[in-house]
Amino acid sequence: MLVTLKELLEQYKTTDKAVGAFNVTTYCDAQPVITAAEKRNAPVIIQVGGFATRYMDLALWGPLLTTMARRSTVPVCVHLDHSKDVEECQRAIDAGFSSVMYDGSQLPYEENVRLSREVVRRAVEKGVSVEAEIGSVAYSGTNAFKAEASDPDTTARFVADTGIDAVAVAVGTLHRMEKQAAHLDFGLLHAIEEKVDIPLVIHGSSGLCDEDFKQMCASHVTKVNIGTALRMAFDQGLRTALRDHPESNVFTEIAHIPMEYVERKVLEKLALLGF
Ligand SMILES: [Zn+2]
Repeated sequence: MLVTLKELLEQYKTTDKAVGAFNVTTYCDAQPVITAAEKRNAPVIIQVGGFATRYMDLALWGPLLTTMARRSTVPVCVHLDHSKDVEECQRAIDAGFSSVMYDGSQLPYEENVRLSREVVRRAVEKGVSVEAEIGSVAYSGTNAFKAEASDPDTTARFVADTGIDAVAVAVGTLHRMEKQAAHLDFGLLHAIEEKVDIPLVIHGSSGLCDEDFKQMCASHVTKVNIGTALRMAFDQGLRTALRDHPESNVFTEIAHIPMEYVERKVLEKLALLGF
């Protein structure tokens, strides 16, 4: 069933579970996310960002993912990840997404508030949830995005000023890490939890060690973004398929192999999330 981020996260805020938000780029990595979630009877968030929208637009992603969500036996939220454009958020809302993230983390505070609020205003009308970011989770391998830890007081003020449903905070992770080498600043995370009442979102979770990952789920962190680990699993599966089946020239004959790799990776992450 299709659900919004708000209704999905609220029930997991105070449990030791958290909901996995998996970045997908094609039908072939989206379907195994849902298959894995159904096997564990776990709710799940399917999200698309720049890697996905660069070759298939939101007007196509919306109907595809929301149809998959409605067919599913588990709650599925269909979410736009890291949009830096209010009009792109509008296109996602129009295409049926049940949740959007507006990312103004690189902007001055007032500008981030103004644009996040504008997205909230548009989303509320359609019953769509909004995530926004304060502080900044940087990216591995590039300095194009600043690294700035989220300040607890500023985060609380940002939540009150914008009316968002979930807030992404920077507490030690890094986007696009291929190794699980990051450590969470639990002191900072708990200081934020004391001041902020809405669900917290952690980006760049592929780079977290399993121990920190599990400990994080017991906090108010309720949305955990996982992208790189899934892309690496798909890539490994695809390379294996091409190596083992050099005679095949029909992708759909070998597609089940990378799909199985993704499903196994999602099952592994769902176990760490408490499902
Ligand atoms: Zn992110």
